[in-house]
Amino acid sequence: MTNPVLKRALKTWGEQPQMLMVVEEMAELTKEILKNISRGKDNISAIVEETADVEIMLEQLKENYKIADAVAEYKANKIKLIEQRLNDWDNK
Ligand SMILES: [Mg+2]
Repeated sequence: MTNPVLKRALKTWGEQPQMLMVVEEMAELTKEILKNISRGKDNISAIVEETADVEIMLEQLKENYKIADAVAEYKANKIKLIEQRLNDWDNK
C-alpha cells in the first residue's frame, strides 16, 4: 500500500520528473556509500538521509509502474535463494 502522501507527490509532479528523481536519489546514495568506503568518511547521517530518500522514491516507482506486489513476490523468492546459498556456504 503506497503512502498517500507519496501517491499524491507522483500525481502532482508527474511520472517523468519523479522517475528522474529516483535515479537522482540513487546516485546520491551511491556517492555517500563510495565516500564512506573509499575515503573512510564519517558520513552515516548522510547515508541515513539518502537511504530514506531512495526508499521514498522507490515507493513512488512501484506505484508508478504498479509493480509493488510483483516486487514483493520476487523479493521473497530472492531471500529464500539467498538463504539456500548461505546454508550451502555453511555446509561446505
Ligand atoms: Mg537525496
